[in-house]
Formats: sequence, structure tokens, C-alpha cells
Amino acid sequence: MIFCAPAVSAPAAPGAYALWLRLASPLDVRVGKISATLPAGDYLYCGSARGPGGLRARLARHMRPHKRAHWHIDQLTAAASLLGAFVEEQGDECVLNAALSDLPIPIAGFGSSDCRRCAAHLRLLPKGAALPSDWENARKAAHLPLKRGGRAA
Ligand SMILES: [Zn+2]
Repeated sequence: MIFCAPAVSAPAAPGAYALWLRLASPLDVRVGKISATLPAGDYLYCGSARGPGGLRARLARHMRPHKRAHWHIDQLTAAASLLGAFVEEQGDECVLNAALSDLPIPIAGFGSSDCRRCAAHLRLLPKGAALPSDWENARKAAHLPLKRGGRAA
């Protein structure tokens, strides 16, 4: 598990990620036929990248504000600021999502249309809520200055 700040490139390997997004104001979104409003606050969205360019290409796409909406999450990345992404090379999006099972689901079905295991791939991160400890460690490690000979997180 590593944490990539928005300006840092993720590995070009396949794997899973959790985007950390912040909405400054409420956002109306559509999930299939359902319209709902996401309150302002922090969100974690779990996805996976298996195509060419792997995690690097997928996260770069999420960070582009202007793109044709294709996935549910595109509605959110167009409006939210991206704080970074937790990245697990070779990881599984549903395993990452399961690690967040204590966090509330804002909209059932968001991001999980083709997933049979999860009620949603989007979680609300309430103010003061704890991240899993290995996620927290990855976030802290990403803010440490680079050691000589070390690699960027
Ligand atoms: Zn899932």
C-alpha cells in the first residue's frame, strides 16, 4: 500500500486504488435512474486498473477535470478536489473496499454496477473518522522527505 499525492505518478503496473476526494459543496449525481445528493465532505472511491498504463494511466484520467463521463465516479472527479490515492499494486478493488466497511455508504450502487460483492464502491469519510492503520501509515510515509537512495512513495 502506498499513497500517491496528486502530483506524484502512480506505478504503471495493474492494481487497485482508492481515490481520496473532497467535495467543497453538495453535489447532485445520478446512479442509473436514481438521483441523489452527495453532501460536502471527504470520500473514498475504490477502483481497479488492469488496462495499458495500469494505475498510472487510470489515476491520470481521474485527475483530468474535463473528460466525457463514462463511470459514476466521473461525476465526482469533475467537481471534487483530489487529495490523492491509496494504491495497491496487483491489489483488488473489492478487498480495498472491504477494508473501509466501517465507513458509511452514501449511495447504494455507486461505482459497483459490475460488482456482485459490494453494496457500493464509494464511502463517505466523516470528519475525524479513522482510516485503516496501514492506509494511515502509507499516508504519513508519503509526506516524509525522501531519504537518500530511497524511492518516492
Ligand atoms: Zn466490489
